Amino acid sequence: KVRVRFAPSPTGGLHLGGVRTVLFNYLFAKQHNGDFVLRIEDTDQTRFVAGAEEYINECLRWCGLTPDESPTVGGPFAPYRQSERKDLYRQYAEQLVKSGHAYYAFDTPEELENMRQELKSPENPAPQYNHVVRQQMRNSLVLPEATVQQLLADNTPHVIRIKMPVNEELTITDLVRGEVTFNTTQVDDKVLLKADGMPTYHLAVVVDDYLMKITHAFRGEEWLPSAPVHILLWKYLGWEADMPQWAHLPLILKPDGNGKLSKRDGDRLGFPVYAMNWTDPRSNEFTKGFRELGFLPEAFVNMLAMLGWNDGTGQEIFSLEELVAKFSIDRVHKAGAKFDYEKAKWFNHQYLHHKDNESLAALFQPVLAEKGITADPAYVATVAGLVKERCYFVNEIWDHGFFFFERPASYDEAAVKPKWNADKAAFFEAWSAQLETLSAATAAELEAAFKALAAEKNIKMGEVQLPFRIMLTSGKFGPPVFDIVVTLGVEETRQRIANGLL
Ligand code: GLU
Repeated sequence: KVRVRFAPSPTGGLHLGGVRTVLFNYLFAKQHNGDFVLRIEDTDQTRFVAGAEEYINECLRWCGLTPDESPTVGGPFAPYRQSERKDLYRQYAEQLVKSGHAYYAFDTPEELENMRQELKSPENPAPQYNHVVRQQMRNSLVLPEATVQQLLADNTPHVIRIKMPVNEELTITDLVRGEVTFNTTQVDDKVLLKADGMPTYHLAVVVDDYLMKITHAFRGEEWLPSAPVHILLWKYLGWEADMPQWAHLPLILKPDGNGKLSKRDGDRLGFPVYAMNWTDPRSNEFTKGFRELGFLPEAFVNMLAMLGWNDGTGQEIFSLEELVAKFSIDRVHKAGAKFDYEKAKWFNHQYLHHKDNESLAALFQPVLAEKGITADPAYVATVAGLVKERCYFVNEIWDHGFFFFERPASYDEAAVKPKWNADKAAFFEAWSAQLETLSAATAAELEAAFKALAAEKNIKMGEVQLPFRIMLTSGKFGPPVFDIVVTLGVEETRQRIANGLL
């Protein structure tokens, strides 16, 4: 059975790339009637951020990408939070020591720092704990066995490190990138188990992918350099036959294609990068989110699907069901996908435009409530229907239709007054009187009556239609004017004409 996982470390809000990783995992799982697991990788206590896990849950809920197994819903492989699985990792680290693929290292933080300082040079700014260094440090590869046993018996602080082979070629087959070859010398002896008994990400991710029977691991390309460590661990633990298939998803790039889109880019370039608003509890730094800016989850998800994938036909609008049916990992590109905020807005506009008026009205009600306006849902739905094609965001229903909810307080007088004269005032008085009899008329009937009256009074349509619109809306904007009349109703329309004639 296909089983995939999204395995975030709860270190902050979710960047849109993170949600795209969720999405591709989810699509693949659902397409194969498989399971989508959410596992929280919180073994690095120094990077743990309160609220981040809740944020992730809420984000998946908002996007409609709900996991089948997770810390909150549970599942057959619980617990799904690595900190709660702490005790089960040590045995695997020790197994690796026994088989000669890992070793105890007793170096103190000071010794490690000295080593780094000594080796540091312009060519080697971040010295690694590699096969050369490990010969000079205090660890079980260089110490006599009896000393090692004594140090362990004395509870000397130690870590367990993987023993990276020297100069071996390691090839993985990645579902997106094809064959990728690494040289093991490029990778240092990563810590697997820390002095506090917590596993590092590298050990925990492999152990849990194994124990949770994960079959496919889709993750961001930034994890590709860690892949050799993981693959060796799968081998050394004797689990190679069960290793998941890897897919390293393309990076999401800045709009100009110049480098990876970072969490900071959003604020700098004026668009959101996070799925939802996020305030870092440590710094109080605030980052705005797609959700709060008015993106519909369907549009957001659709937009993300197109960052690195397409179905080859040019189609861009896909429902989640369609994506589940059509997604294929071999159509995911290798090249990074440029993020384009204008395109993201276009997706939102498409979804907004095609959403039914009632649902749109429900989304718009909170915007009205914030302004202290209560309105009948059916009325709000009519308004939404009249203005939605002009809106990129739900709150823009207000910008394009505020006059449906409040009488214009002032007018674009310059647009009305220059051509104003007694004839026109008389026309509007007559029109207002006639409207009293037209309360059940359609927009087309109203238009016909208006035209007829203008003809009768010998006034050109063009001279009265715009002033009429301005009386109703306060400016030269809005949907077709007779639709506005029908929506406002005859009473309100007459009131506005009266105000306009003052
Ligand atoms: N915990 C890693 C992260 O924070 C997961 C990487 C992976 O999927 O292997 O993204």
